[in-house]
Amino acid sequence: MDSHETTGMTGIAGFSGEIILPGSDEYDTARAVWNAMIDRRPGMIARCRNSEDVIAAVNHARAHDLPISIRGGGHNVAGHAVCDDGLMIDLSGMRAVTIDPDNRIASVEGGALWADVDSASQSHGLATPGGLISDTGVAGLTLSGGIGWLRAKHGLSIDNLVAAEVVTANGQMVRASDDENEDLLWALKGGGGNFGVVTRFEFALHPIGPEVMFVAPIYAVEDGPEPIRAWRDMMKEHGNLVGSLCEFSTAGGEDFAEKDQGKRVYTLACVYNGDAAEGEALLQPLRELGTMVADFSGRMKYCEVQQLFDTLMPAGDFRCYWKARYLTDLSDEMISLAMQNALSAPSDNSISSLWNFGGATAEVPAAATAFGDRSMGWMYSLDGVWTDPADDARNIAWSRDGWESSAPFGHHGRAYLNFPGHGEDGDALTRTSFGENFQRLVEIKTKYDPHNRFRFNQNIQPEV
Ligand SMILES: Cc1cc2nc3c(=O)[nH]c(=O)nc-3n(C[C@H](O)[C@H](O)[C@H](O)COP(=O)(O)OP(=O)(O)OC[C@H]3O[C@@H](n4cnc5c(N)ncnc54)[C@H](O)[C@@H]3O)c2cc1C
Repeated sequence: MDSHETTGMTGIAGFSGEIILPGSDEYDTARAVWNAMIDRRPGMIARCRNSEDVIAAVNHARAHDLPISIRGGGHNVAGHAVCDDGLMIDLSGMRAVTIDPDNRIASVEGGALWADVDSASQSHGLATPGGLISDTGVAGLTLSGGIGWLRAKHGLSIDNLVAAEVVTANGQMVRASDDENEDLLWALKGGGGNFGVVTRFEFALHPIGPEVMFVAPIYAVEDGPEPIRAWRDMMKEHGNLVGSLCEFSTAGGEDFAEKDQGKRVYTLACVYNGDAAEGEALLQPLRELGTMVADFSGRMKYCEVQQLFDTLMPAGDFRCYWKARYLTDLSDEMISLAMQNALSAPSDNSISSLWNFGGATAEVPAAATAFGDRSMGWMYSLDGVWTDPADDARNIAWSRDGWESSAPFGHHGRAYLNFPGHGEDGDALTRTSFGENFQRLVEIKTKYDPHNRFRFNQNIQPEV
């Protein structure tokens, strides 16, 4: 028996999917994730075909005492989907979505991307809140919250999660819903990939579109903060109708005039959560706040809106380091700080954003989901994005410094755990972000994963 066999790194009994081992042609592609900085080497990649494969893989890992990482859409910037040496359970072969239009439920396999959910549900005129980029994984985004355009009227992704099927650390398939394993369903609503491999999600659907109003006037940072202040005031009033962010970026490409190329700009991007014509009228003043550098506004299909930002963020091209924190309010001082940080970004590919909350998102009590407190008014995110490894240090420093500088405006020190840097803030940030829900999460973790088999995530350690 060779050493690979004794370590369990040759194959998995009863597995019908694909086993990808170091040295095989597919290995480097299979271990790559969205952030080009992540370069980890699992001992074995188990690309599952169905939930029986997931059970076999989890049992195998337990029998050989292997660490497990779980790959959904592979978008996590900290690279939690990939582990060194252990077993990577790859769900990219499990992307089926079925829609029950009568009961307005989407049943979604654990490796699906938001594009899969959006297209299937929109074919019935329905949708559930996802993220802003269509090739993000449903699993990772949902399990830590899920902030998208529809949050004003329909809340976070977790607020629409009605049930899930989960393979737990002991290899059992359990269903979590309001009637069975309610504690597990509660924990999945924000507690991340800590509790097992979710093989199926069930989401509530809502009638959306097919046409929605997208408003996106673009102003130059050098022209001052007035448009952002006006946008802030409008979002405070209409947070129950508009999902929005003010996104700082660098003008470039054919959509911008020659004179504006390379300027630092911001987009007041909004999706009206209702009738397109109503939204167009309500949001028109945002397009009249000064001289626009460009304007991407228009009525468009919901699926188009969901894919508008995809080309800004192609998988595997960029090195990335992201941070975010919730803000209590969006003061003029915080707006000025965000403008300064945008101007000082070393890379033209980096973006930073101010996100509004309110409406249905804010209505959910802190104890109702693991995600916790919803009283934050805003979020500030800094997405360092660059290409040359020689620029790693200064781009990481930009995200971190910007994040630190915004601390005085933070909301109880809480951060969105889906924008995690490289996870180096670890336990302290995780505890603070879960707030009063942390202890209950520890108890549920201890019940479902007492040996911390699922630890490549914003980890909640079980009680020993
Ligand atoms: C380009 C881009 C755009 C983004 N936009 C948004 C946005 O608009 N809104 C937002 O809220 N977030 C957004 N995010 C953040 C995103 O939500 C997180 O990166 C999330 O972790 C991605 O999920 P994934 O399944 O693609 O990631 P993965 O890297 O595959 O997984 C992330 C984590 O989830 C766990 N996991 C994955 N699948 C499962 C499963 N089936 N069962 C249990 N655990 C699992 C993994 O172990 C890992 O810990 C964006 C990220 C990127 C890169």
